[in-house]
Amino acid sequence: MDSYKKIIGLMERHESWRSSCLNMIASENVTSNAVRMGVASDFGHRYAEGLLGGCDDGRKLFNRFYQGTAVFDEVEGMAMSMAEKMFDAEHANMVPISGALANLTAYYALAKIGDKISGLNIECGGHISHTHVSAAGVMGLKDVAYPFDIEEMNIDVDEAKKMVLREKPKIMIFGASVFLFPHPLKEMREAADEIGAVMMYDAAHVAGLIAGGKFQKPFKEGADVMTSSTHKSFPGPQGGMILCKNKFAKKIDNAAFPGLMSNHHLHHVAGFVVALAEMEKFGAEYASQILKNAKALAQSMHELGFDVLCEHKGFTLSHQVLVDISKNGGGRKVANDLEAANIILNKNMLPRDSLDKTGDPSGIRIGVQELTHVGMKESEMKEVAQLIKRVVLGGESPGKVKRDVGELKSGFSKVCYCFD
Ligand SMILES: *Cc1c(COP(=O)(O)O)cnc(C)c1O
Repeated sequence: MDSYKKIIGLMERHESWRSSCLNMIASENVTSNAVRMGVASDFGHRYAEGLLGGCDDGRKLFNRFYQGTAVFDEVEGMAMSMAEKMFDAEHANMVPISGALANLTAYYALAKIGDKISGLNIECGGHISHTHVSAAGVMGLKDVAYPFDIEEMNIDVDEAKKMVLREKPKIMIFGASVFLFPHPLKEMREAADEIGAVMMYDAAHVAGLIAGGKFQKPFKEGADVMTSSTHKSFPGPQGGMILCKNKFAKKIDNAAFPGLMSNHHLHHVAGFVVALAEMEKFGAEYASQILKNAKALAQSMHELGFDVLCEHKGFTLSHQVLVDISKNGGGRKVANDLEAANIILNKNMLPRDSLDKTGDPSGIRIGVQELTHVGMKESEMKEVAQLIKRVVLGGESPGKVKRDVGELKSGFSKVCYCFD
């Protein structure tokens, strides 16, 4: 009973705390009640092991190992067709249960032990799952990094071409966790063809912007495979997916099941279909407001005296804003102080940081997708910038700022861009 009371209390405490915060972690979001219904549904008690495949006429074939999946087959079929259409993919697989596992699925399907993969270094925005310290390391893959243009905050195309022609990675990964501007897919396609590499696009952060038609279109620009989380700028439940051209479908499907996953968290697939439906209807409006809000926040912070990166490029074309905070106390202190004011964001490495700066990097990364999802617009972004300034540049006590944070947030407690 004590443990029961305790866990119920912790759940209530978390819910009440985070709902009064300005939640600006760039990899998070909140979901609509209908998405939550999917996640809390009976699908979460069930299994639907088995390979799925499409026919040429667009029908989905299901070959399940257990009984009881008739309704879920329809759900998963919807997820596949809707995701294929939304992201211009020939084939979708819903089995990966997270973005990192979607990446591992791609490696398992398309690379051999000891092959090379290319991507961005962590300090330039790459994700750990693009490097040998995580998923890729399981297969003994060696990671090689694209040269990075710090001014442009993007891959240096000319140098990156030379690098891949020299290193010959089997999989060329694009997409990142710090992701301000679209990556040069078109520009790199020829080099990929020359060395016979697969081009993979990791859309974990930007899938919601792509869904709304407000970021690059990976498959139209040359990607062979797209992996993603379903819960960052895309406002679905936590989970993953992998999309590909038909010629890779069989290998990808087999790598997902029986390769790496057994149960694929059916409740998340149900919630994901709800989010796909929401994005079909409201995605364009949602994504374009995210872009406006990110620019508005960056502009306001810049005017208030923050060193916001990439002013010469209009700061950002995504949901993210990156700030060099090294002259204002450093990433660790600033992120901690802001947390004490209920402004939740994360410290982040900047390209100039060396790896020993992981604990106290020079930057903070801010994402506006969740505040946008609960209805905030440009004028609220100005207020958010002011609140951040009061803590970081004004030296006001976080406890005092926290009251005003709560007041601003209290007007934005409902998820928008949904059917609720
Ligand atoms: C967050 C992220 C992932 C991992 O996604 P999870 O769903 O957390 O496993 C993979 N790639 C990139 C670029 C990410 O930012």
